[in-house]
This record gives sequence, structure tokens and C-alpha cells, in this order.
Amino acid sequence: MELQSEIKNLKGIGPKKQAALKKIGVSSIEDLLFLYPRDYEDRRNLKSIDLLKEGENAVICAKIQLIIKSRKNFGKKQILRILVEDSTGAIEIVFFQMTYLEKTLMRDQEYIFFGKIASRNGRLQMIQPDFHIFEGKTENQILPIYPLTLGLTQKELRKWQAAIKPFIAQLNEFLPEEIIKKNRLCSFTYAMMNIHFPQSPQKLKEAKFRLVFNELFLLQTGLMLTKNCLTMQQKGISFSDQINVLDFIRSFPYSLTKAQLRVISEINKDMESSHVMNRLVQGDVGSGKTAVAAVSIFKAVKSGFQVAMMAPTELLAKQHYEGLKEQFNAFNVKVGFLSGSLTEKQKKQVLFELEQGNIQLLIGTHALIQKRVVFKNLGLVITDEQHRFGVNQRTLLTEKGQHPDVLVMTATPIPRTLAIILYGDLDYSVIDEMPPGRKSIETKALSPMQREQAYAFLIAEVKQGRQAYVVAPLIEESETMECQSAVSAFEEFQIKYPQIRAGLLYGTMKQSEKDKIMQAFYERELDILFATVVIEVGINVPNATVMLIENAERFGLAQLHQLRGRVGRGTERSYCLLIADQKNELAKERAKIMAQSNDGFFIAEKDLKLRGPGEFFGMRQHGIPELKIADLGKHIRILETVKKESISILECDPFLKEPDHALLRMKIEKMFENVENIGI
Ligand code: ADP
Ligand code: MG
Repeated sequence: MELQSEIKNLKGIGPKKQAALKKIGVSSIEDLLFLYPRDYEDRRNLKSIDLLKEGENAVICAKIQLIIKSRKNFGKKQILRILVEDSTGAIEIVFFQMTYLEKTLMRDQEYIFFGKIASRNGRLQMIQPDFHIFEGKTENQILPIYPLTLGLTQKELRKWQAAIKPFIAQLNEFLPEEIIKKNRLCSFTYAMMNIHFPQSPQKLKEAKFRLVFNELFLLQTGLMLTKNCLTMQQKGISFSDQINVLDFIRSFPYSLTKAQLRVISEINKDMESSHVMNRLVQGDVGSGKTAVAAVSIFKAVKSGFQVAMMAPTELLAKQHYEGLKEQFNAFNVKVGFLSGSLTEKQKKQVLFELEQGNIQLLIGTHALIQKRVVFKNLGLVITDEQHRFGVNQRTLLTEKGQHPDVLVMTATPIPRTLAIILYGDLDYSVIDEMPPGRKSIETKALSPMQREQAYAFLIAEVKQGRQAYVVAPLIEESETMECQSAVSAFEEFQIKYPQIRAGLLYGTMKQSEKDKIMQAFYERELDILFATVVIEVGINVPNATVMLIENAERFGLAQLHQLRGRVGRGTERSYCLLIADQKNELAKERAKIMAQSNDGFFIAEKDLKLRGPGEFFGMRQHGIPELKIADLGKHIRILETVKKESISILECDPFLKEPDHALLRMKIEKMFENVENIGI
């Protein structure tokens, strides 16, 4: 057996176990070695039940007295309660949606339980613990707890890890000696031994630090390595430095903020240089990204190139088209529009003028990436609300030119510290200032019981001449009574308040229908727009002052923030009402954060902490592989150290071609093998 051998070669692993292991990403011995424990059970600290405290993670050894299965409740969740007892007292243990345990757990049997202690109605409970049969030994150990899946047990994993322990000695050091010394890291093998078989909390800490360092170092070096490759290989367009953008900037009806001007100059520098620009512009909703894009469009067009601007929805594309067409009119720039909603004849006309070079700026939806869209000389590609596009869609668009510059705009803020590290200082700009005079949006969390009040408030605003949004999920996904869908909320509302003009908008509606509704809302023929999250992106109706969100517990923080950004765009005071199940802890926490701040970056930092890095903004889409031990929310300091080390190593050996770095390179390649595309 070797490190690379398939896992089935290990004694005790048949096809069933093999399949289960595969589900948690383990196919080889090596994979198993790198399956890190997700927690530890400190058996040196077995607690007696009478000493348990709310909020702690504790290990107890207790006998099962009673097993009670609750009936299905609304949400189809089945709950299993068991009563356990040791010589000092008894405690209830609760399992959610794990009724199969009913068959596994045995009365009168002693188990070790490891889990969080919570309090309910003044009584302590242990929630969803890990457990295994107590084997009678008074073990004095820190035991690893591995991530499991159906068909695997802790005991098996511990046994297999013990069986492959000898392979740890075969792992080669891949970090340069200097880095290890300078950062006082323990050796790789020591770390691997202690992560699986910790000899003391102190040694476990050293091990974790080393492995977090490893992971972040590989991540950072990998990201920078690709960037080196990309920017060094490609020679791009040098746009003229003779274009006077000041005239254009003066044509705005307002003066640009300092942040907008700074970002514009960052973009200008990139555009004038001969390498390909690959710049991400982040700015909170309403920070004025469009104005920044407009200036770069002006520069490209006046240098003699065409520009493509792609937006994720028809609505948004149209809005950009109408605004920019008017602005560019005074500068003799011809602007075109392309989307699936045009007639064939209209499309042909646009495509013809584009190929001739008459259209200098083409704005549209993903219709822009179709094969038959041909530019004469595409020099700049802009995508708005980047998170809505896949990497491939953007690539298809850039391939319509010869290494055009790329500008990507997003209102999904990545925490500042994190973004600077992940993107380097090179291609990342942030508009961290709002245009003057914006009022903060008052945000309130309400329970479903307060729905009436919420609607009463909304109607009062409408009677004052304002408009409002109501956002809800499209379909009722569960049978719970509380769930409101956009459709049913709309229908109920119409029956109750026939005198108020309401419209309904959702993603799968016919385009022409959507346009009609949206147009009506723009023109104040509708007072209230009921919608699904289709309105999340970019829509600008300054007269709208209330955003009411039903079932807010179903939306993440980033999404809630985006939705809220639809109001507060005019001069009137604006409000965001979140109706959420107040029993849902996560929803409560989110509502609290939303009420606390209007700053997208602050919210992003919190979101990162709440959700953990795995789910955060689709890391993989950003070219970031899944991390096994490091936490991008927690380990910012280590990340900063690591970045310096990565830079110094790549300065000497930009492509890691030296034999000394061969192993490091291999490790990086393995880490990134499942990531679609690296870069922004
Ligand atoms: P986003 O960054 O969300 O795309 P927009 O570009 O749509 O924001 O701008 C939001 C609104 O703010 C628009 O109505 C725009 O005209 C206005 N705006 C942009 N920059 C400024 C500024 N410097 N001063 C005043 N208003 C501005
Ligand atoms: Mg925008």
C-alpha cells in the first residue's frame, strides 16, 4: 500500500464504506490522511451532569433511560428526545431529523455524548450531540471527531486513521526551511500526527496553526501564481492617454465622489498601460458604479475602440441603455441595445451596425455572448453585477476582441481585508463612499404576527404618494402555515385592498409582461410591486420608500442587503421591514445586523462569520478552492503573514520552476484542480 493507493485497499473497507467515504471526498489513503477532525472530544474532562452549564460544549458519560419520538410537526421535522442519566443527575438530549437513531440507540446502555448544552424553558438540554457506546475504559485522551456521512461511524474513522498512521512519516516537507523558521512552525509530520492524535491541547494548537498556515500559503501562492501567468503572458491594448475625460466628467448632473474619482484614475492607469486590465470594482448598492463605468467607456470609445456592457437582467440592461444613451448623445457616441426581447429584424440591424463599427457601445443581456454577435474592434468589456454571471460567460464575451480590457462591477462586497489579500492590490478597486445626502434606511425586524402592522405602514406610505416593494419567495416550498409566496401575498393583498394599485413580478414571467409591469412601476401607475428576488439587482425607482420582505429567514445577509438597496434612492426617508420567524436564531441574528448597519462591507464581514467561508458568496466562483481547516473569517492575521511569504517566494521564482519548489507547486496544483478558473 502507498500513500496514493485507493482507500479500498485498507482492511475493513468494502464497496459500501468506499462509497460513503467518497461522499466526504475521500478516495485514497492520502485523502483520508487529510480528512481533518472537525472537532475534538476531550475525555480528560468528562463532566458530571449536575455540573453542566448552558452554552458550553461538554462530554458526558450517561445511560439512556427513555427514548421518545415526537410526532411530525409542521416543517416535517421529526424530533427524537432521549433522557439520559449518570450518578449525579439526568438531562434530555434532542436530535433533529435523525429518527433513524431510534433504531441505533439502546436503552440501559451507557454512551459517551459530546455536544452543546442549551437551555429551554429553564431546563438544560444537550442538542444534537456526537455519541458512541462507552467502552468501559477510562481513557485519558483527546479524541478526534471526524466529519461523517450516512454509513460511517466515528469509531471506524478513528480505527482507519490509526491504521494509516505510519504513512504520516512519508509526508514530505514542502515549505522552505526559512519560512518554517521565521514563523516558528512545527514540522509537517508533527502537525499531521497531532491533528489526528493530539497529545495535549498545546500540541494540538501548534498542529492546527501549522496546517492553517499550509492551507493559506498554498491558496495565496496559487492565486498569485495564476495572476503572474495571466498578466505576464498577455499584452493588451494601450488606450490613448490623450483623451480628456474631464469634459465628460463635467457632464454629470452631480459631482463625483472622491472614491469614484480615485477608482476612475485607477482604471485609467490600467487602460493606458500595455497589459490586459482585469479589474474588479466593488461598491455598495447606490455607490455610483455606473458613473465610473461610463468614464471608462468614454475613454475606450474615444480611443477608437468598441465597448460591450453586459447586465444580468433585461431590466437592468435597459436601464443602463437609457441612461447612458442620453449621456453619450452629447458626445456623439452611438449606443446600441441587444437582448432576446428584440424582434429578429431589430437584432439584425444592431448586429450589422456593430460589425460595421457604427455602434460604439453595445449594452445588453447575455444575448451579447451569442456567436453571431461580432464586433469590429472590441476594446473593453464591462460586466455589471458580476456575481450573477459564470466565469465562462465573461470569457465568451472577451473572446470577441483581441485581449480587451475587462472591468467587472459588483455590489457583493467581499470584506475589505479579505479582498485585498485574495485579489492582491493589483486589480481591485473599491468605491467606499456614498454620494452625499443619502439617508440611512430604517430597518425593523417583525414577527409574522405583526404582518398587519407592516402592511398598514406600507399603505400609509403609499397614501403619502410613495411606492413600495414586497418581496417573497416564489413558491411555497413547505407546508408550514407561515410561508408566504409572492403570488399568494399578491392575491391576498388585492382582495383586501382593491383600491391600491399593485403589480406582480417574477423571474419566469414572459419578458414582455415583465417589462410592462416594470414600466408601470417606474411611471407610478403602480403603487406596490410584489416580486421575487428578481428585483434584487440594480433597479432604480427613487420614489420607492418601503421594502417589505416576507420570510426574511430564507434570505442570506448579502441578499437582504441587496434588496434593501432598492429603497433609499431618493430624497425621502426609507424603510426596510423584515418579516421573519423570530424563533429562527439565524434569522434573528441577521435581522439584528441589518438593523445595526447600512454598510455593505460591515454586513459582509458579519456574513462571513455567520455562514462560514464555505458558503460565503460562492467562493468557488471567485476561483477559491474549498478550504479544509483554514477559516477566511477567522484567520485574517495568518493570511496577512502568508501573503508576505508568498510574495517573497514568487519574487525569486515567479513560476515556481526551481527544483526546490517542485513539491510546493504540486501541492498547489492539487489544491486548485477542481476550481474552474482562477482570477477574478
Ligand atoms: P450602483 O453602484 O448601485 O450601480 P448607480 O450607479 O446605479 O449605483 O447609482 C445610484 C444612483 O446614484 C443613481 O441614481 C446615480 O445617478 C446616483 N449617483 C451616482 N454617483 C453620484 C454622485 N457622485 N452624487 C450624486 N448622485 C450620484
Ligand atoms: Mg449598478
